[in-house]
Amino acid sequence: MTTDMWVNETLYPSWGQRFLVKRELARVRSEFQDIVIFESHEHGRVMLLDGVVQITEGDEFVYQEMLTHVPLLAHGSAANVLIIGAGDGGVLRRVLQHRNVTRAVMVEIDGEVIRLAKEFLPGIAGDAWVDPRAHVIVGDGIDYVRRATDASFDVIIVDSTDPIGVGEVLFTDEFYENCARILTVGGLVVNQCGVPFMQHDELHDTSIRRARFIPHVGAYVAAVPTYVGGYMTLGFAAKQPGLDAVPIETIRARATAAGIDGLTRYWTPQIHVGAFHLPPYIAQHLPGAI
Ligand code: SAM
Repeated sequence: MTTDMWVNETLYPSWGQRFLVKRELARVRSEFQDIVIFESHEHGRVMLLDGVVQITEGDEFVYQEMLTHVPLLAHGSAANVLIIGAGDGGVLRRVLQHRNVTRAVMVEIDGEVIRLAKEFLPGIAGDAWVDPRAHVIVGDGIDYVRRATDASFDVIIVDSTDPIGVGEVLFTDEFYENCARILTVGGLVVNQCGVPFMQHDELHDTSIRRARFIPHVGAYVAAVPTYVGGYMTLGFAAKQPGLDAVPIETIRARATAAGIDGLTRYWTPQIHVGAFHLPPYIAQHLPGAI
């Protein structure tokens, strides 16, 4: 008799999702975390870090498109992009779809995540790893931003785990102060800020921190099915005003100029603009409402 093997996500102590495992593909204890990759029935291959869903083949397009295309098209002429975390390579692939990007630096603390993603989730990054514009560094994001040159990046994308363990440093004053220093005058930073319905303080606390160093702080949402609890919120902090309210016709023209028309399954100019219109239960966590 086969016994069904269910994996319960460990994110919340009293609520969560579970997956019926078709086949386990990898189980590694790296220097930083437990890494599990398995074949699911409904969502393709799934990566868990310390028991928390990081990415699934089934819905990664939602999160990666919104974490990438929104800041790059809000900026309008990003050439140098810094990616922190994102070891699966999905953000890197989408950054490189923008023809005006000349350099994409990706700093991932855990080389095992990159190795296992290349082996078991090759479709997430595609050939981004070998793009001549890509510079992949295995290291701590906080160390990288400490050493990076002033005004050297137009957009910073923080695709980290939650603020526990190795990810915690990416939600600190020091991290955001250095982000402000290394961003160009028109620069902006976005970062995953959890699911506010369940992770009440992540957006609130990090928005207050970002506002100390970068003047125009907001957020936008994406509906990622396997980030359970409703909208996933992405923090947004820009040195210039108005980047969270770029007119839809401008966004549409920039997407065409960047070469991403027809490459998306979630992002559209309408979704881009609409994502910044937050329901009150989320907007209440932002500095303007705080
Ligand atoms: N989409 C996921 C989410 O929203 O939770 C994140 C996916 S990605 C796999 C998260 C990555 O952040 C992991 O590979 C982890 O190793 C990396 N990470 C965590 N802390 C880091 C740090 N201090 N510097 C660089 N990368 C870090």
